[in-house]
Amino acid sequence: MTKRAYNFNAGPAALPLEVLQQGQEEFVNFAGAGMSIMEMSHRSAIYEQVHNEAQALLRELFGIPDNYKVLFLQGGASTQFAMIPMNLLTAGKAASFIMTGSWAEKAIKEAQLIGEAAIAASSEADKFNRIPNLADIQLPANAAYLHVTSNETIEGTQYTAFPETGDVPLVADMSSDILSRPVDVSKFGLIYAGAQKNLGPSGVTIVIVREDLVAASPKNIPTMLRYDTHVKNNSLYNTPPSYSIYLMGLMLKWVRAKGGVSAIEQYNRDKTKLIYDVIDQSGGFYRGFADLSSRSAMNITFRIQTEELEKQFAKESEQQGFVGLKGHRSVGGLRASTYNAVPLESCRALAEFMTDFQQRNG
Ligand SMILES: *Cc1c(COP(=O)(O)O)cnc(C)c1O
Repeated sequence: MTKRAYNFNAGPAALPLEVLQQGQEEFVNFAGAGMSIMEMSHRSAIYEQVHNEAQALLRELFGIPDNYKVLFLQGGASTQFAMIPMNLLTAGKAASFIMTGSWAEKAIKEAQLIGEAAIAASSEADKFNRIPNLADIQLPANAAYLHVTSNETIEGTQYTAFPETGDVPLVADMSSDILSRPVDVSKFGLIYAGAQKNLGPSGVTIVIVREDLVAASPKNIPTMLRYDTHVKNNSLYNTPPSYSIYLMGLMLKWVRAKGGVSAIEQYNRDKTKLIYDVIDQSGGFYRGFADLSSRSAMNITFRIQTEELEKQFAKESEQQGFVGLKGHRSVGGLRASTYNAVPLESCRALAEFMTDFQQRNG
């Protein structure tokens, strides 16, 4: 392949070409230092500026209030599944969850290893094709927090509004939709996300946490797994994933240049509309997996009448330069991940391919 692929990978996912090119330009000699940013001390003034700038940009773009800390951690969102209950689940309390699919389930399993976990609502009866009605949430009286998965990457469902939880902190795994739309951060106690879908390359995990929750966490958990360690040290307690943070910073500048998060949200809507329209107007040839109320603007999941046709679709699309359209092995079907950095042109090309495929096989 000589040109850039139409990249619909679910994660790690597409990065903007401009970001990759700037990274390439600065790869061997960053800021005239005579070395790559990867070869520099994380205590150097040059690195520290990159680190702090990425943090400040995320604060600005996502509208993070001053009483929240922004952390750059390692271990992926999957480590947060355990770190959150370790820090926020105190004795006699229950970590409560909205069970929406594959990622919510993993978060629950980890919490169960740490303490008591409760399901406050679930869409399992509907095979996780939708987000449960917020009115149906039953929060236990001893809830330590309520955990939601804002976008279920595998099923392709997404919250359009978040539950009101009063004094109970709302915790959100936003790994697959952070910075894709404006969010009122002040409604949350903690937000976390692996960077590799919407924010940059793999290797860094973002945690946005309200100060009072950090202060209240127990002091008998291992140093690296305590939020206050990373708060006190500006995420520089140990060596951070400096190259990932640097590239994330470039990606954040790209989002700002695009007009910020509201502009990105509109762009994402335009992108997904191209593909959802083909599904909806296919007369049943393509069938969206998610209920209309809960369709994701990040992961478009769909099926074709027969598994044979799905296989043929996957194969032919690959031959035409499309990557990553096979659905997750756990649910099958097809999936197009249209994160922030996926260009509109890729989505238009996919919509055209889908129309053509139906004409040939419908
Ligand atoms: C990808 C993903 C994860 C896992 O992220 P890692 O960084 O690989 O641990 C967790 N939650 C959601 C919603 C995801 O999409």
